[in-house]
Amino acid sequence: LSKRRTSDEAAPRPDAGSARDFSTLPGMRDYGLLKTALASLEMRSPLFQQHDGLAGAHSLIGNRDVVNFASYNYLGLNGDPRVQAAAKAAIDRYGVSVSGARITAGERDLHLELEAELAALHGAEAALTFVSGHATNVTTIGHLMGPRDVVVHDAAIHNSCTEGIRLSGARRVPFAHNDMRAAEKELAAARRGAQRALLLLEGHYSMDGDAPDLARAIEIARRHDAWLMVDEAHGVGVLGATGKGVAEAQNVDPSGVDLWMGTLSKTLSACGGYIAARRDVIDWLRHTAPGSVYSVGLAPPLAASALASLRIMQAEPGRVTQLQANGRRLVALLRERGFDTGGSIGAAIVPVIIGSSIRTARLANAMLDRGVALQTVLFPAVPEQSARLRFFVSSDHTEADLLHAADMLADASANLGAVESLPGFG
Ligand code: PMP
Repeated sequence: LSKRRTSDEAAPRPDAGSARDFSTLPGMRDYGLLKTALASLEMRSPLFQQHDGLAGAHSLIGNRDVVNFASYNYLGLNGDPRVQAAAKAAIDRYGVSVSGARITAGERDLHLELEAELAALHGAEAALTFVSGHATNVTTIGHLMGPRDVVVHDAAIHNSCTEGIRLSGARRVPFAHNDMRAAEKELAAARRGAQRALLLLEGHYSMDGDAPDLARAIEIARRHDAWLMVDEAHGVGVLGATGKGVAEAQNVDPSGVDLWMGTLSKTLSACGGYIAARRDVIDWLRHTAPGSVYSVGLAPPLAASALASLRIMQAEPGRVTQLQANGRRLVALLRERGFDTGGSIGAAIVPVIIGSSIRTARLANAMLDRGVALQTVLFPAVPEQSARLRFFVSSDHTEADLLHAADMLADASANLGAVESLPGFG
């Protein structure tokens, strides 16, 4: 009988040693180390977890109902019947796709309605949507900045921002996470000799669950003649009394930020991204940014779900208040049990810093065995000594869900014992 190779077994490589050998690509080594480590410890991978059906505050994994902290359905709007109905009605009216770039035949009234309401959310003159949040940052930053420019950014900024900077050819200067003194020092030094400068932050940091001092950032950007861009992917629906984000939370005039960036994939329960800014900037992006000119317009069901979600978010601010209460409660429960939640301000994102990637992966598996799904952030996404579990909190989580998660983490952690570390890993 011939034995079929499973996908985990190494295939013979006909190109070994040649320039066509894929195994020499950057990242293959790190990924290979993780795979080898998991295999040698006989551990299943916590990555690519399959959820069956709708991933809400609870989710079905392998036919089991689990409390779900792995999805960013912050206000529970993915699955809301009003959102589903809006998406279905948009398909009936416009079809699934707009079948063209906006600049050619892809423009629909839905896009313009959504963009007007997104602009209003950020107190901006106009907004423009793109087909993904990642693509929004890549194309906008890549187009805005050039080789004679500099981008000074928080070290914890999302990959889509660093990819955008790379594309632009601008000089990239990171500063220590959330350290505004360092930001000013770097900006002052980097500004000399650069044609244009951009200060780049997140409104609610995706790895740490904290927020920048926005008023200070505006002041620093102005003083050094730099644009300020804030990625609000995780801030919208989460921060501020009505979910308008970090500016509302800190009572700062949002017009001090030159470019607001957001995604439709989190609170707004769709898929896509946007920039909100001055009308001339938005018109310029609309007509010239490659991700606008050379990419299809947002799919009608996605534009419709984002619009419906945005309206529900604003009509029902109790959801935002509940999410914030849940975030604070989860942080308190975890800290009471001795866990390190880093700088989390207790909103949508609550990290638990573990340290070793293997220990983090083992804990995630042990949590799933105990009926709790959460995310792992492993090396190389963060330095090995700061591998972490990450909870995404939803307004739909109940007190029982939060308590169960904290108790199960204490139990899983107590039962884990010493964890192997592998040479060369991290
Ligand atoms: N910015 C930040 C801060 C993010 O965390 C993410 C993705 N999680 C993105 C941008 C990209 O957004 P999307 O997943 O909607 O493409």
